[in-house]
Formats: sequence, structure tokens, C-alpha cells
Amino acid sequence: MRRKLKSSLAHSILSGRLRSEFFDLWAIDSISRMEREELLHYQMRRIRDILSYAYERVSYWKAVMDALHIKPKDIQTVEDFDRFPVMARDIFYYDKYTYYADGWEKMKYFQASTSGSTGRPITIFTSTNSPEIRLNTNKHFLYVCGLSNLARFTHFFWTIQNFRRLGTAIDFFAYRNDLGRLCQILREKGYRAIGGPPSILILLADYIKEKRLSLSLKFVQSGAEYLSPATRRDLEESFQCPVYDRYGCTELGTIAHECRMQIGAHVSVSNMLVQIVDESGKSISGRASGRIVITSFDNIFMPLIRYKIGDIGYWIDSECECGLRTPRIFFEGRSLHFLELPDGRKYPVLEIVGFMSRWYGGYMKRLQIIQESHHSIRLCFVPTHLYDERWDGLITRSLMELMDCDGELTIHIEKKAALLEMQSGKIPVFISLLNK
Ligand SMILES: [Zn+2]
Repeated sequence: MRRKLKSSLAHSILSGRLRSEFFDLWAIDSISRMEREELLHYQMRRIRDILSYAYERVSYWKAVMDALHIKPKDIQTVEDFDRFPVMARDIFYYDKYTYYADGWEKMKYFQASTSGSTGRPITIFTSTNSPEIRLNTNKHFLYVCGLSNLARFTHFFWTIQNFRRLGTAIDFFAYRNDLGRLCQILREKGYRAIGGPPSILILLADYIKEKRLSLSLKFVQSGAEYLSPATRRDLEESFQCPVYDRYGCTELGTIAHECRMQIGAHVSVSNMLVQIVDESGKSISGRASGRIVITSFDNIFMPLIRYKIGDIGYWIDSECECGLRTPRIFFEGRSLHFLELPDGRKYPVLEIVGFMSRWYGGYMKRLQIIQESHHSIRLCFVPTHLYDERWDGLITRSLMELMDCDGELTIHIEKKAALLEMQSGKIPVFISLLNK
């Protein structure tokens, strides 16, 4: 009975009836520690809420449910929900108004554009009650990672809308030429954790390593870009603390976050349902890989229901020792990240990243793979002073062997001081120039 009450109270808080930071954090934490069955009960209730709303207010979802002869109240299990179609990201290029709720013109909303690192940039609208819950979800993860006071957190995600009010946001590039001053500020203010994209963290890590400084951090949070195993190792060595990865996207906020165990990432269960599905859209529960689709509980401007974020991943089944009971996911990367080989085969970019990290991780700081054509690939990286020029040929040969390619493919090795950035400032691990 007490449990049911807790679940109902958490539901009322997070569906927006009782708003305050304290209540949000209590509800998010309670949900993260619920038994699986109870958690699913809470999530299905939130799903029915958003589906009822979508049925009433969004023409696209009304048409879907009518075609399926289904009403929101009929959705009791994940299997029922699997009957819904998967939304692809490209819906936003076409008739996006079909997905907006009636009366959207009068709603308060914020607008955000995705960076375009997964293809074309898209513009997403979110209703105003979402940023609060998203912000509090991030705060909760920072507490779980061991931060006791948010005033002790600073980060370089200052361009990300719902991060601006998280701890202290610092514009890293204002200090780009005076990293000594930045380190002084970090130490004087007593920050115990810092966050940022790996491309920025690496610059700071190199500086403190070179100057033999210590920032006395409890942990570092990485996000917004791909964190390779080699970069993680480098950062942990320089900052002398663990690095926890945060997975998220503009449309949904933080999807999952690593805990101190660093085995997969705990999904944000209070504000979304994360599913891994097969090609037919059916949920996968075991350790098989599939596409990640997400239903957001809080976007009343434009409900995102079984929305495909473009990533693939698998579940980690065992219970986590950190105390959270939320499911853990392992992200395998972008499903769009495949090299197209001359013989028509598709080869996962992450295989190459993994290979390079394993063998050359200590000799290069960042890696970027650019596919120029079906016959030409550029492998760009920022070498460390330990890199030996004679390895260029060895790398090329090893990669050709790994991909089982013959002379029809050329791999150009390019050592650079900086890698290609997107307009948003992100440095993607893979850029495909095919079909452009
Ligand atoms: Zn954990």
C-alpha cells in the first residue's frame, strides 16, 4: 500500500501537478529505486497519459490509433505499446505540423536545433514544463555519481539550453588562451566535478598534465560527443578521477548516465520509456542489439512516441551495485555510422574506432573518420608526441585487413592539430560525404 502511494505521488509530481525542485528530485530518486514491476506500472501510466493527450490533440496520433482500433486506455503492457509505429527523425523534414498538438501557437515553448551530426539538422519544439524536469534529472545523476552540492559543479555545456542552470556554466573558449586562469578559478571556487564534451575536456586535460596540476576532482562528466575508450583513459589519467559518460539528445535531454560502476548507463526512467526494438519494432529484452526508441512523457507541444534516435544498443541485465534499480543500457553507437565499402558492404565505424583505441589509444588524442567516396577514406587524428611516423603504413594495412578490403579502397592517414568541427562546435567521430 505504501509503495502504491509512493508511486502515485511520484506520478503526480512528475506529470506536473506538484512542481518544485525538491519534489522532482524526491520523485526521480524514488522511481529510480523501484522494483521493476512497479517501475513498469508507473511508466505505463505515464504512457497512457501522453497517448490520451496525443489522441485528443494531435491529428497524426489520432489517425494512428484509429487505424489500429486502439484507445489509449487499452495500452496496458509493453507488448500492446509495440503495436505503435516507430517515428523516424525525418518526419520533421516533411509535414511536421501534423505532429504538433492543437493550439500549439498559444503554447509557451522553447526551440532547439539538433547539431546535424547524424544527418541534417532538425528543429524541435518542447513545451515549457519539460526543461525543469530535464534539469532535475541531470541533477539527480550528478548526486548519484557522488556530488553532494550542486554549487560544486561546473561545466562547459553552456550552449545546451537545459544545462545553463545546472551548477555553473563556463564558456571554455573565453579561456582558451589562458587555461592557467581557468584552472585557478576551478581551484579557487572549490569545484569537485566538471563536465563538458570530450573535445574540450582533452584540451584542459593536456594542460593540467603538462603543468602537473591537480584539480582535486571527484569525477568528470563527459557528454554531447562520442567518448572513445582511449579518450576516457587519457582523461582519467590526467584528471586523476573517473569519467562518467552522459548520453542524450536535443529532443529528449539526458537519456542515460553512467554511475560509478561504469558498466553501461542507467536510463532516465522517470521522464521517458526507453525501448530497444528489432527491425519490426518489437521490444527486445535480452542482450541482443537493436534500435533505441524513446517515448517522452513530457513534450506536450509535439509528443514524441516511439521515436527512433538513430542509436543502437543492448540491455545489461544484472543488478547494479550502485543502488539504482533502473535498467542499464550499453550504447553501441549511431546506426547511421557505417562505412560503405567498394564491394557494397557496410562496415561499422565503431569497429575501427575500437581497433584504433586498442592499439594506438596512447598515441593519438582524437580520431575522425571521413568517407569521401566509396573508394577513399580519410583517417584523421591528433597524434601525441609518442606517435611514430612509420606506423602510417602499418595502420593502413591493418585496417584493410580488418575490413577485408583490397586495393580498391584507399585509406589516407592525416595527422592534424585539430579536427573538423560541425557548425555547432561538435567534433563528430564520423563524417560521410557520400550523397552530398
Ligand atoms: Zn549503477
